[in-house]
Amino acid sequence: MRNSILISKFKTLITYDKSITDEVSSINIHRIYILALVLAPVHLAHVLIFWAQNPGDASAGNVHKWHDGIIMAHAAMLFIVCVFGTIAYFIKRRYKAAGKSAYILQITICLSYLVFGALVCAIDQLISSNITPYLVACIGIAVAILIRPVDTLFFYAIAYAFFYYAVSWTQQDNELLLSVRVNGITTTGISLGVAILLWRNNVLAILQRREIEVQKIELEEKNKQLAFLANHDPLTGLYNRTQFMEFANKDIIRISRSGKESCLILIDIDEFKKINDNFGHPAGDAVLKDMAKIITNFTRSSDIPARLGGEEFIVLLPDTELSTGVIVAERIRAAIDGHTFAHTVELPKITASFGVAVLAARAKDPFNTGYDAADQALYRAKKKGRNRAEAATNGVNPASAEA
Ligand code: GH3
Ligand code: MG
Ligand code: MG
Repeated sequence: MRNSILISKFKTLITYDKSITDEVSSINIHRIYILALVLAPVHLAHVLIFWAQNPGDASAGNVHKWHDGIIMAHAAMLFIVCVFGTIAYFIKRRYKAAGKSAYILQITICLSYLVFGALVCAIDQLISSNITPYLVACIGIAVAILIRPVDTLFFYAIAYAFFYYAVSWTQQDNELLLSVRVNGITTTGISLGVAILLWRNNVLAILQRREIEVQKIELEEKNKQLAFLANHDPLTGLYNRTQFMEFANKDIIRISRSGKESCLILIDIDEFKKINDNFGHPAGDAVLKDMAKIITNFTRSSDIPARLGGEEFIVLLPDTELSTGVIVAERIRAAIDGHTFAHTVELPKITASFGVAVLAARAKDPFNTGYDAADQALYRAKKKGRNRAEAATNGVNPASAEA
């Protein structure tokens, strides 16, 4: 896991990882939309300020060309940025931000701004040797738009090539031209470095976030398992003894208020040891699982079956008389008797014995009184030859059912 993420970290710098570029694309589209809202007034301000500051007739011809050039360049960019901002808005709202149109928009806006920076810089050469517009465009694109390093390299190469020739159209001084071109290399190089660094940082952040999300899901899954194991038996999935006791104690409170009785059924598989001895523990486990299913299937959803431990099960039947408890026990017994157990091979007939008792609020220690009575009934069932349900004598209406 860790290794694969490290490999993908490296890969994202040199190869095309669609899942990363798709995520980055939606970040870029959002940024283009926000940038358009900020940059449109900036371009408009340039147009208006230059418009207001018209150079007088006495100014040199170059100043007029510079003045008009700046107005035209910013007016064109104002239009472009409005169009791109609108497209970004619709892509963001209606389409997938990782689609083809989103990629084309990102590439176009990068190239437009780099060319715009170089062009304004070339216009500026009419009156100075400053390269600020090119610098701002290069750094701005590097910071604002996240582009794969291979693509960035390509864009900045195009931008510098254009810049290299464009400045020669207007810069007449050879030394200044050389200085401007050299400064342009520095600007392009630094911007390229910044773009690659930011791409890397963002990609690492995306990968880390994904790793954290995976770990979070795993942790939630483990917590669920732990919570399940805290109150369930891992083999059969039934409630464990602790959870059963909680339900039983709640039921005792309920019956002490209502004055009604509940029933306890103790179930013990007959001669289970022989299954383990003759067919192995896994076969014994398979039998325990099947038993749990049968017990669950033959009790009501309001009844609470649990595994007490080993090959012993218990069922709490809330609000149930002893006679009904015996009927339920007999139903489960008959189902087990008629079931064909198997684990890799068919197992010999397996049966279980049952002890049924009431859980009465009038007893001093309701649970233990009921449990002891059920245990004694179970003992009697074993003694009488197993595969039978015996009712305890602690409750009214005692009964017994035999196979
Ligand atoms: P009886 O009819 O008198 O109840 O005989 P029995 O063999 O069922 O009773 P005994 O108490 O002698 O044996 C219970 C066996 O249950 C012994 C133990 O190895 C087995 N056992 C307990 N827990 C598990 C379990 O989780 N898986 C398996 N496969 N066997 C278990
Ligand atoms: Mg036992
Ligand atoms: Mg047994």
